[in-house]
Formats: sequence, C-alpha cells, structure tokens
Amino acid sequence: MATKYKENTRLKVVKEIPDVVIDCVNKRRYMKGRFLGKGGFAKCYELTDMETKEVFAGKVVPKAMLLKQHQKEKMTQEIAIHRSLNHKNIVGFQGYFEDPNYVYIVLELCRRRSLMEMHKRRKVITEPETRYFMQQIGTACKYLHEQKVIHRDLKLGNLFLSNEMEIKLGDFGLATRVDYIGERKRTLCGTPNYIAPEVLGKKGHSFEVDSWSLGCILYTMLVGRPPFETSSLKDTYTKIKKNEYHIPSRVSLPVRQLIQKLLHSDPSQRPTMDQVLNDEFMTLGYLPSRLPTSCLTMAPRFE
Ligand code: ADP
Repeated sequence: MATKYKENTRLKVVKEIPDVVIDCVNKRRYMKGRFLGKGGFAKCYELTDMETKEVFAGKVVPKAMLLKQHQKEKMTQEIAIHRSLNHKNIVGFQGYFEDPNYVYIVLELCRRRSLMEMHKRRKVITEPETRYFMQQIGTACKYLHEQKVIHRDLKLGNLFLSNEMEIKLGDFGLATRVDYIGERKRTLCGTPNYIAPEVLGKKGHSFEVDSWSLGCILYTMLVGRPPFETSSLKDTYTKIKKNEYHIPSRVSLPVRQLIQKLLHSDPSQRPTMDQVLNDEFMTLGYLPSRLPTSCLTMAPRFE
C-alpha cells in the first residue's frame, strides 16, 4: 500500500505537456501536434489554433527551469525583444502565455528546418545560393540593428527556413538591446556559437559581433566547415583571438575579400549590414529570386 501511494505521487510529479494548451487571456486553444525539436530550455511542438486551424511552432519551457530570478529575466528579455520585431526574414512572434507548469511561446512555423540541417546534408553550397541566403540574413540583421537589437548568436541553426525557402532568423535567447548610442555591452551570459574576439577578450562589444558571426556563416556555407574549428572549445578560442584561419584557394576573390572584412579582428573595421548588402560579392554575381526545396539535399542547376 505504502509503495503504491509513493508511485502515485511520483506520477503526479512528472508533468506532461497537455495535448490541448489554453491561452486564457486571449481565449485561444491550441492542439499540440508533431514534436519539432529540443533546445537548451525548450521543447518545440506544432500547435494548431483550434478555431482558425492555423499552424504555429510552440516553444514550451518548463517553469521548473526558471526557478532562478536570473533565468526568469533572460526569458522575459527574449520575449520582450522578439515580440517587438516584425520583419519578413525574422520568425514571426504570435504570442505567449503560461499555465501552472509551463511558459508557451507561439511562433511562426518554419517548415523546412534550418540552414544547419541543409549544411549537414550538403556541406559546400554554391555561390548563388550563398548570395541568396546572405541577402536575406543581411536584410534581417539590418532591420534588427535599426531596432537597436544585437542578436549575438547568429548561426546556421538559428536561420530557419520557410516552405518557400525564405530565411527566418530566430532564437533571441542571447539578444540584447542597445540603450544609448555608443554603448558597449560588457557581459554575455551564454556560449555563442560564432563568438567574436572582443567578447572573448571582454573588451566591450556591440553590433559588430553580428558582422563577425555573419563572416563565420559565409565561410561555413562556401568552405563546408567553420573557420576556427578545432576539436576543443579552448583551442577554437585561441585561434579566434589570434585571428588564425585559412581560406582555401578555390574560393573566389570577391568572397575571400568579404570574409576577410567580416572577420577583421578590429570590430570598428568590419562592414555594417548595409555595407554587406552593397558588397561586390552581393551585387555583382547572380542572385536567384527563389530557390527550389531540392536545394536542401542537392546542388541546383542554374540555367
Ligand atoms: P532554445 O532557445 O531552447 O535553444 P530553440 O529556439 O533552439 O530552443 O528551439 C529548439 C528546436 O525547436 C530547434 O532546434 C528547432 O528544431 C525547433 N524550432 C524552434 N523554433 C522553430 C520554428 N519557429 N519553426 C520550426 N521549428 C522550430
């Protein structure tokens, strides 16, 4: 009897995400569907609005993960920043709500996963494809910077893809707002994938960290591996601080030059997003107006 009682209480402690989640404030009910993926804190599911039948991506964060005040503030900050944004190349923010056990963030559904999965499958992608993606990432970041927001964790896995193969920049978990002109941010809680040298050196950082990450993304798309990759984080950080990377000779001159500008160790020397969009690599070569979904698995033939 005693054991049975124990088992029952244990079952109650394991809090499952309900099949129907309810946003009491906005009077919406969502049906939980397919599991989409898992992040540091969140599990992500398809959520269907039971009235309109519209399908969204729902990020579900257990409140048990938000016990420390600091964690709560980070989550509040992510929501505050993301909900203030509205751009075709940024994951749309639909709303957020909570129940006793979870916080739910309802987002635009990106049905074609991210550039991370495409990179794993394809490794090297062609210059026109790279230009197509860079144009949309640059446009999203230009808008972000105009809103005084620094993303601080631009990486392939945060560059989601819509059914139409359009870039949707997401995950504002490490993002911050610049409060006054010339402010240098001193702290960054987390581990950005493509971390800039000034962040490692704790010298104060700003918008230029996104240009650095964009340089790493550009390199990775065209070379097939990240510029400072080693088998340990410590060695990677040493290479970043020394600005030690090599561009293979097969990479064309305009690309090489843009990578070198973006990966400048002095942040003030890196191109802004506007300068990236007007760079020779971006403006002189062929820019496809759209890409077929077959690009996710194989190189397209541009006629
Ligand atoms: P965390 O911030 O905790 O790392 P993520 O934002 O990375 O969580 O989300 C975890 C996973 O959920 C992602 O890797 C991705 O597979 C999926 N995901 C997140 N947002 C979306 C979205 N808008 N559309 C489709 N899938 C998504």
